[in-house]
Amino acid sequence: MKTETLTKTNGHALNGFTIEDIGDDHLFTSLDTPMKPNAFDMSNEEKKERISILFSEIMDVLGLDLTDDSLKGTPDRVAKMYIEEIFSGLDPKNKPKVALFDNKYQYNQMLVEKDITFYSNCEHHFVPIIGKAHVAYVSSGKVIGLSKLNRIVQYYAKRPQVQERLTQQIANELKTVLGTEDVAVIIDAKHLCVSSRGVKDNTSATVTTYYGGIFNTSEKINELQNYINS
Ligand SMILES: [Zn+2]
Repeated sequence: MKTETLTKTNGHALNGFTIEDIGDDHLFTSLDTPMKPNAFDMSNEEKKERISILFSEIMDVLGLDLTDDSLKGTPDRVAKMYIEEIFSGLDPKNKPKVALFDNKYQYNQMLVEKDITFYSNCEHHFVPIIGKAHVAYVSSGKVIGLSKLNRIVQYYAKRPQVQERLTQQIANELKTVLGTEDVAVIIDAKHLCVSSRGVKDNTSATVTTYYGGIFNTSEKINELQNYINS
């Protein structure tokens, strides 16, 4: 996994990288999504109103006619989509509540939930990242419902993201919830900022991985890869 640790030296340069380099190369600066301390002072209704006003300004600057029937509703629609859907994972209130169950069957092999489709957005360009996540864990005595694994992936995907951070955030949440280091996360995704703009590479995909605890051996990694490819 490429994890660049950068420390902020001033507003323009980070460890010799310019702000432009960081965005263009999709580097990221911290494991936590960078949020303002007062991020939730405004209500969701106020946020939607503000975003709608600001987005209509962007459209206006682009020269679009906001009196057109087709465009009229777009600023409100975008605002609603940002807050209620594609960026709803910024709000900790939306974090999935996870109930744990005793591992009654004493199943002590890896459990793999594969091909979890997700849609996220690149935090550098605000265009989609579309991919599949595969998550696995070995129970330390507790298990969670399979749909919760999916929900955890979706929650962290619904933020402006970079793929390395998404991978880490899902892994950390699984470790915390399940009380074990034995978790693995593999993400295979296409970044529309790479395929539809910039270098316009239509075929490349980015794979990031996290192998914690017992998953961090070539034997377990092979076993996991076999399940995913089966
Ligand atoms: Zn991007």
